[in-house]
Amino acid sequence: KTDGGPFSWQDLPVRDDLRALTPYGAPQLDVPVRLNTNENPYPPPPELVADLREAVTAAAATLNRYPDRDAVELRKDLAQYLGHGLTGAQLWAANGSNEVIQQILQCFGGAGRSALGFEPSYTMHRLIALATGTRWIAEPRGADFSLDPAAALAAIRRHGPDVVFLTSPNNPTGNAAPRELVEAVVDAAPGVVVIDEAYAEFFRPGTASALSLLPGRPRLIVIRTMSKAFAMAGARVGYLAADPAVIDALLLVRLPYHLSALTQAAARTALAHVQALLGTVDAVKAQRDRIVDELTALGLPVVPSDANFVAFGVSRAGEQPREAGAVWQALLDRGVLVRDVGLAGMLRVTAGTPEETGAFLTALKEIL
Ligand code: PMP
Repeated sequence: KTDGGPFSWQDLPVRDDLRALTPYGAPQLDVPVRLNTNENPYPPPPELVADLREAVTAAAATLNRYPDRDAVELRKDLAQYLGHGLTGAQLWAANGSNEVIQQILQCFGGAGRSALGFEPSYTMHRLIALATGTRWIAEPRGADFSLDPAAALAAIRRHGPDVVFLTSPNNPTGNAAPRELVEAVVDAAPGVVVIDEAYAEFFRPGTASALSLLPGRPRLIVIRTMSKAFAMAGARVGYLAADPAVIDALLLVRLPYHLSALTQAAARTALAHVQALLGTVDAVKAQRDRIVDELTALGLPVVPSDANFVAFGVSRAGEQPREAGAVWQALLDRGVLVRDVGLAGMLRVTAGTPEETGAFLTALKEIL
């Protein structure tokens, strides 16, 4: 560097294969109505906050010691929450499901290996694959963002990926994959199959989890998180359910003591309040359905959603098409932050409180 200006990361000897990437980042803007990162709009209830204070105080008194390296009690609690006859040996937890995804790719992907995903989907699958040196294979979803079973299975047979990602409900589109498709994907895939069910608690009646497919399928991994339904995004707790052999394999790559004693205490305390926390799920689902109904009534194209967010087109059929970015900015000008997920002519909005959802709908109607 010769011009004397400030250094940028491009001036550093960064790995060549990282140079084309851009960091993940939804804008964190301080606006009245934040509906852009699929959080639960309801803060933890006061009883939980009080119990958290106690649990964290107790954990603080022993912070001279490393935490339980294998988070045994937390994994038992998570197994009990999920049901399906699961035990702690089939559960694994980390700092957000993002870290779970990273550990899976460190273990089953990496140099000389490949991971396949059906896009558009959660972009961190691709980014973490690339960051772990795993070749990324993008296969397209259909025009309505669903997966054609024959095409999906053919792609898996053609590429023979070491890891398959299937997000259900899919982010950013909200639609879920039928369980029969998941079953067929696991049977067809030569490697591990990761079903990312970050939003499973928001399923509509009749949508089924892949958890019931776990028995007898040691290459199936189901990912969940406490960031969405549990209203604990700030605590950073994600987890997976799989055959105990998968977890034994992950022990090879996980950093020792990766989950702090404070995090484990917070997660276990939240799970003790599961009833109250999941009480907010029905309220959020009602606002999700309200968004779908009202946007449909406005004549906008809407993707049916099994999640806590809705992907929608910003122009009516036959209308002069609007730019998604312009509508995003016009909403922000009215104090409402949604997500421009890079889909032409579409935006994604998280279901909020009735007031937040109302503010979004009012602002959008004004803009249209
Ligand atoms: N998977 C999906 C599909 C997501 O949408 C998200 C969060 N946006 C995550 C995983 C990661 O969530 P966390 O790391 O907070 O558990």
